Amino acid sequence: MYELIRSKRKTLAVLITEQGNVQVRAPLRLSEKQIREFVEKHRAFISKTAQERQSAWQEKASFSVTQGDTLLVFGREYPVRFAEKAQFTGEYFEIPKGDFEAVKGQIIKEYKRLAKEWLPKRTYELAQEIGVEPLSVRVNSAKTRWGSCSGKNALNFSWRLILADRDTIDYVIIHELCHIRHHNHSIAFWKMVEGFVPHYQTFQQNLKHISKRLQRENWERPANKQ
Ligand SMILES: [Zn+2]
Repeated sequence: MYELIRSKRKTLAVLITEQGNVQVRAPLRLSEKQIREFVEKHRAFISKTAQERQSAWQEKASFSVTQGDTLLVFGREYPVRFAEKAQFTGEYFEIPKGDFEAVKGQIIKEYKRLAKEWLPKRTYELAQEIGVEPLSVRVNSAKTRWGSCSGKNALNFSWRLILADRDTIDYVIIHELCHIRHHNHSIAFWKMVEGFVPHYQTFQQNLKHISKRLQRENWERPANKQ
């Protein structure tokens, strides 16, 4: 039921891998009996977590997109249909037929193109309204951050942001632009954000929903093609 790994560590710990495998890390001299008792005591939690991880992993591994599915652009679901190449037409998200790993790279490329078309332009518009000046605006492939602002005020946005609706995108952009004034999450920072986006919590919720969806899907690019 679990893999036992002994080392010079001082405490006993259970680690559940992303795939749902259970590892017990134990000090060299702790008895098998003590380890078994520890695992037994936490059995319900361990097996529940392991099962959840395993099914999430399997769902992710079998993720693919095909004709009849939908893809999210600017907060709306667009029907997927087969065509020569990956292209968002404004009505359909067209994708080529074939091995999904290869097609996925093309879909990501199209998402990136849309992101590069929209995000920098919109950022400079909003920067003018707010009265700040970013050093640069770039689109990257960040998985866990929608946007970031460097110490030198270089702004970065993940292409994944293009899945959100325009108001939510505006919130993320404004959030990063406000970091040009406040390089922290102080009360003054949030006051500034609130001044431009009164109900920003709504948009934070929207982002959480998209994050959850993205977690179930697999938008990692094949390792050698990044
Ligand atoms: Zn922030």
